Amino acid sequence: MSLSLEDRVTALPGVGPKLAARLAEAFAIHTLRDLLEHYPRRYHDAGEVLDLSDVEEGTPATLLGEVLEWSTRRIPPKGKRSRPLDLTEGRVRQASGAVFAVTFFNQRWRTSSLPPGTVAAFSGTVKRFRHELQLASPDVQVLGKVGSGTDTSSAAQRLDHQRLLGVYRATEALPSFKLNELVEAALEALAPLEDWLPEPIRRDQQLRALDRAVRAIHAPADHADRHAARRRLAFDELFSLQLGLQWRRRQLEADTVGLDNAPVADGWAARFLAELPFPLTGAQQRATADLGRDLGATRPMHRLLQGDVGSGKTVVAVWTMLNAVDRGRQAALMVPTEVLAEQHHRTLTELLAPLGVNVLDGLRVAALTSSTSTAVRRRILSELLTGELDLIVGTHALLEEGVRFADLGVVVIDEQHRFGVSQRVQLKEKSAPIDGTTPTAPDVLVMTATPIPRSLALTLYGDLDVTVLDELPPGREPITTQLITPDEAHRRGRLEAFIRTEVAAGRRVYVVCPFVEESEQLPGRGAVEEHGRLAAEVFADLGVALVHGRLPSADKEAAMTAFRAGAAQILVSTTVIEVGVDVPEATIMVIEDAERFGISQLHQLRGRVGRGGGRSYCVLFAGWSSELGEDARERLVAVAGTTDGFELAETDLRIRGSGQLFGRAQSGLPDLLLARIQEDVDLVAATRELATRILESDPELGAPEHARLRAEVLRRYEGGVEAFAALETG
Ligand code: ADP
Ligand code: MG
Repeated sequence: MSLSLEDRVTALPGVGPKLAARLAEAFAIHTLRDLLEHYPRRYHDAGEVLDLSDVEEGTPATLLGEVLEWSTRRIPPKGKRSRPLDLTEGRVRQASGAVFAVTFFNQRWRTSSLPPGTVAAFSGTVKRFRHELQLASPDVQVLGKVGSGTDTSSAAQRLDHQRLLGVYRATEALPSFKLNELVEAALEALAPLEDWLPEPIRRDQQLRALDRAVRAIHAPADHADRHAARRRLAFDELFSLQLGLQWRRRQLEADTVGLDNAPVADGWAARFLAELPFPLTGAQQRATADLGRDLGATRPMHRLLQGDVGSGKTVVAVWTMLNAVDRGRQAALMVPTEVLAEQHHRTLTELLAPLGVNVLDGLRVAALTSSTSTAVRRRILSELLTGELDLIVGTHALLEEGVRFADLGVVVIDEQHRFGVSQRVQLKEKSAPIDGTTPTAPDVLVMTATPIPRSLALTLYGDLDVTVLDELPPGREPITTQLITPDEAHRRGRLEAFIRTEVAAGRRVYVVCPFVEESEQLPGRGAVEEHGRLAAEVFADLGVALVHGRLPSADKEAAMTAFRAGAAQILVSTTVIEVGVDVPEATIMVIEDAERFGISQLHQLRGRVGRGGGRSYCVLFAGWSSELGEDARERLVAVAGTTDGFELAETDLRIRGSGQLFGRAQSGLPDLLLARIQEDVDLVAATRELATRILESDPELGAPEHARLRAEVLRRYEGGVEAFAALETG
């Protein structure tokens, strides 16, 4: 009988509806494929399995046998030990008939987890006690039960040629050894697995055949075998992901032609750089070189520009947009919030001032958000349509029906994580010229200040090219970060005094709270209450402003203006100020209930200070309204320990793990089960390159030699390439 991966587990001998239901419920295992993708969590290294007669006293060994009986006795307190001990002792019989003892202290539960009849491997150091050999507190790996197909000698034989035993995520009803048995049965029943990777790829990448890899990941002969198997299967995960992402990108771009926006001599873009009061950093120069090439190509640009807060992305963005204007086209800058739109509009106007803004012969720049008045909106829409407006900054409002451009050449999207692919596609339609000529796709630059480890960027954004601004402009002010927990409550008072001194010296302070308002359900400070407290009690003599997402735009803008101008020296807010807000005089960032924020959020918030106002400070209050957990403390200590965004991003990735990065349910992308993008960065790069090469020669994956690749990618992404659309919610 030969089974296939798509067969249900009930096709296996001995698997009835009851066991099948258990597998489905505990691990969502329905088919043999599911079972075989339930990879071992780790491996039990049995070491050399020995027979009692070969054991040397005082050396580590693994002894294997059938549990015969248990007894427990109580040892009274003695010496320094003030409590009695339970000594649980089991007697175990080896295949040869020899019996040895295993002992555990205060682990009476062993008697029920290893009832008589259990066959198990016990690893530890062998001692002689009275006349018997015994293993004290050994490492235990259950192998099966006598009477259900396992006996001591067959188990011994198995471990003999296979030192590494897969240990599976298990439940009480489905212990790991049961999964070992099921997997073994499945591997026996399966016809040899056909390999979806063409032979030349396997050869080039030095990859195991699929069949061998699947078998070895569950039952490796040794560590090298396990390693090679994991590498092959991780390659499959990453390669299919890259193929899928890039395939989709090509489909989206299928009938689009890019515009030639290559830099011209003496244009706005060139003059902009010449007028800047500072030279570009090396990283900015490399970025403009990358972008310049993209802008000139016929394929529309799709590039991700990532750089830490303050690395100077805005200058690069403005330069990119001006290249479109140099070709007589328009450019749009999309941002996620109104506050940011206002901020960017102001920055743009300032940066472009030397070139002339909104004056005769100057550049025409406007901002559009959902709170733009009807009259202004009407004028902007008409000027976009006629081409009078060169540059526009806006929120989602730019995507609305009715917004049309005469000729949209460049789109810059700030803070990628809040926009999705479909919005990039929507923008494409905005540029369809009304005169009926062939639609063209704008060049798209996506910017993110959330540092993403390179490995992750290449994985997540398989459909974007990536440029990194890995250098900060000179003259950055250092930021001191401190973590304050309730056991140092006096430091809150000291901070208040310090804030007064700083404010007296013309500096400003952010106070960020996790919530708009406090509630019963979630412990933590609310910006509204905190503002009330600070304004009425603590800093009654100072100007304290409030900004949060639920305020009307006018109030938000008033608060920001007061803070910027110094009329308010303290700004209490939620994370609305997380991105882009730029007030150079701000030197103190206070974050309440910091454990409620993730690493990248904290890093973003901290990036609001240290922007030129002198030495800056970030104070993280944590553990004040809820218990500080292990992970939270690790995150906060990391943030306090470095201001390097990329280092923090790596830490973040390590703490969270990459396995659940995508979360199949939300993203439509398969989880990476074996691939670990931090360690497998070489595989990420290799698979990405390979996918590009294949799709370049065969964009539809329609060639006969790619039929298997195509089928595999479609299988992994249920619903086909359409499933990728789910990424957009990301
Ligand atoms: P980002 O958007 O990457 O967080 P910005 O573009 O807002 O960073 O730049 C932060 C600050 O650094 C701004 O005040 C900007 O004018 C300044 N800046 C940008 N590039 C340079 C440079 N090459 N040299 C000096 N200052 C720079
Ligand atoms: Mg910015």
